[in-house]
Amino acid sequence: MKIVKILEQPVRLKSNISNALVNFSTHTVSVVAIVTDKIINGKPATGLAFNSIGRFDQSGILRNRMIPRLLSAKPGLLINPETERLCPAKVLKCAMQNEKPGGHGDRAHAASALEMAVWDLNAKLEDEPAAITIARHFGRSLAIPKISVYAAGGYYHEGQPARALQDELKGYQDSGFTMFKMKIGGAPMDQDLKRIESALEIGGAGENLAVDANGRFTLEQAIAYGQAMTPYALRWYEEPGDPLDYHLNRQLADAYEGPLATGENLFSRQDVKNLLMYAGMRRNQDIFQMDPGLSYGITEYATMITEMEKNGYDRKFAYPHGGQLMGFHIVAGLGLGGCEVYPGVFQPMGGFQDGAVIENGMATIPDAPGFGFERKSNLAVPFAELCG
Ligand code: MG
Repeated sequence: MKIVKILEQPVRLKSNISNALVNFSTHTVSVVAIVTDKIINGKPATGLAFNSIGRFDQSGILRNRMIPRLLSAKPGLLINPETERLCPAKVLKCAMQNEKPGGHGDRAHAASALEMAVWDLNAKLEDEPAAITIARHFGRSLAIPKISVYAAGGYYHEGQPARALQDELKGYQDSGFTMFKMKIGGAPMDQDLKRIESALEIGGAGENLAVDANGRFTLEQAIAYGQAMTPYALRWYEEPGDPLDYHLNRQLADAYEGPLATGENLFSRQDVKNLLMYAGMRRNQDIFQMDPGLSYGITEYATMITEMEKNGYDRKFAYPHGGQLMGFHIVAGLGLGGCEVYPGVFQPMGGFQDGAVIENGMATIPDAPGFGFERKSNLAVPFAELCG
């Protein structure tokens, strides 16, 4: 089996929304296709993926560095001799040739898109959902194809009336979600507390609502919010401070008794190891949100989970950031706690396949082969354009 060509194209997200720090109206994502010489149903077998959501396209790193490395690899270098298929770990290693360790930034997202496309390809070659391919690869059974999902939204919309947040959450509830996440830190604290209270009027108990500050707060602000929110007993309090400030996280964990969540801005096993060692993360309570679509793909992500388990943390507390189909399959395949979903935002990448049914906060893995991008009509368009 041989790679014939690798295609990449930036796609603009449809999202004029903001969290505490970022407006997403200019955000883009790279869609990639790895086209092989293997033929399925009369067409070249092709693996598709993109570099998650919430960052930018990686056209430069992909086109100038990583794609040329893969296309010039010696015959057989990227192949698993047992399966005679592309090996995700070998593809990642080749894409990362001549790159120094550490400093995991945009290249981690670029490499993810390529590594993930290999999983999509291999699942399609088996004619099975990627969740099953992932589970088999890591020696796990996919006994429970239903996974817990929560709706992420509650962004700051320009000129949004106060009731709009409730209407948004009500819409998620009507479509089967029972747990929600909303943004904080983009308004003064008294206004944010009112927003939380109005969200709780829809969500009910605090355990149905998480809040996300997107790394905005100083320690003092993080503690002040924590104290003010303690009576709500929220499901979790996400990224209160700078995601790399482990000392802040540790001090906040001492001051705030509810669950904290972080990890979506850590892109390597070593970053996660440091988080486990120095950030005061509490076992069987705090939530880990590393996103395989931003952090070199499933190969590296699986080592993060191993690192968690080696240190006594349960993978059921892993809820990958991302809110898209790749995360859905990874949560199912690796038996993680649950999956973020963006049902209404970050289109065409956010959310699941057309007609996805959410019941009581649970979703069933779609039966399409691979990650099933082809079954999400608005996402199928950029991939169809990419592949001509
Ligand atoms: Mg977040």
